[in-house]
Amino acid sequence: MATVLQYYNLKPDKHNRICCPFHEDKTPSMQVYYKTQTAYCFSSNCKTHGKSLDVIDFIMHRENQDKHNAILKAASMINGHEVPAATAQTPSRSDILTKMFTYFKNAVHNSPPAKQYIESRKLDYEKLEIGYNSGQFHHGQRKDETLIRQCLQVGILQDAGLISKTGDKAYRPFGKWCIVFPLKNKANQITGLYFRSTLNDTDKRHYYLADRQGLYPPLPHDFIVW
Ligand SMILES: [Zn+2]
Repeated sequence: MATVLQYYNLKPDKHNRICCPFHEDKTPSMQVYYKTQTAYCFSSNCKTHGKSLDVIDFIMHRENQDKHNAILKAASMINGHEVPAATAQTPSRSDILTKMFTYFKNAVHNSPPAKQYIESRKLDYEKLEIGYNSGQFHHGQRKDETLIRQCLQVGILQDAGLISKTGDKAYRPFGKWCIVFPLKNKANQITGLYFRSTLNDTDKRHYYLADRQGLYPPLPHDFIVW
């Protein structure tokens, strides 16, 4: 039972109680009994109410699976053949970069200066994978703790110890006012981002995200020598 609870990222309190995962539960209604390797939900609102759940029952309910599949799942948990759910939900660097590049790509359409710059470079943002970073993705209504954490993780935001006017922590966006190209690996996953300044044409115009990996596949030579 401990293995199963851990797998689902459910942490019993000191009385071995958890918030029941099978109904809306704000205060822990489910009692875990390690002695019998069972759990019991005391809420009458619960679909499992009145039944003592062993580990297989628990997995059946949690996965919405039949007994056969629940047993297979239990076996995989013991053998460690499966990535724990908690780990699987953590997005990879590539997942984060893909999400952010989609955001940057959409931003081109909302930014006349970005469109103008891209056209001046004789590139076609309708055909090529090009994005634009206005540096606003973590502000205002878009402010989102998960997004900020993920952007810090991959380096799209940097913690420069800044405090904003509102007194909140402020972060420095990497490659602000740059057009953005995805760098991909052989499996066509985005593994890096290349930023090219739209403002500065002299010394500081090329920026690669930390842990540079991947290539922009259709990169013609004149892109490189910009
Ligand atoms: Zn319940």
